Amino acid sequence: MSGYSREILLATSLLCGGRGAMQLLQLHRKLLQRCHITEEEFCFILKRCPRFLLVRGPAGDGGERPGDCTVVAKTSLRLCRSYGREERCRGEGEGGCQQLHLCKFFIYGNCRFGKGRKPCKFSHDIRSDHNYRLLRECTLHELNEDDLFLLLLQNDPTLLPERWSRVASVPTLMDERMKIS
Ligand SMILES: [Zn+2]
Ligand SMILES: [Zn+2]
Repeated sequence: MSGYSREILLATSLLCGGRGAMQLLQLHRKLLQRCHITEEEFCFILKRCPRFLLVRGPAGDGGERPGDCTVVAKTSLRLCRSYGREERCRGEGEGGCQQLHLCKFFIYGNCRFGKGRKPCKFSHDIRSDHNYRLLRECTLHELNEDDLFLLLLQNDPTLLPERWSRVASVPTLMDERMKIS
């Protein structure tokens, strides 16, 4: 997949701009405006790269019409829960923790700290040595902050606040985030 890192980054960014998901044909069209990619390459990337999940549409006839498919942006990257609870992170010392050390309110866009007054006790730095290494490993280091946060919110179940987790879909959560910030 490394030969397609630019196309994967562009597609991820487009999906995040579309709130994390987009109709297959629409994504292909938008991608073509930004890079040269054949239909075969596009399908190959979508099927092989773990960044993308293809969801079949509601046609219900077992067919695989591209027009019925939606592409969802995925990542296995999560926030470290020990870090968020101010506990000693278990990963430390043995190969390093494989999860992000970040303030979750920073990701929601509503951390009360870190804007000059009182510093936040959790990191707001996606480019810290620890976080940047993980972002590089997942080839997410070139994604802008807003896109990255949307991707994390959409994929990390622990980031859904209790009161939203059962009822809210991701778009609703993002609406809340827009209101807060
Ligand atoms: Zn950790
Ligand atoms: Zn914070």
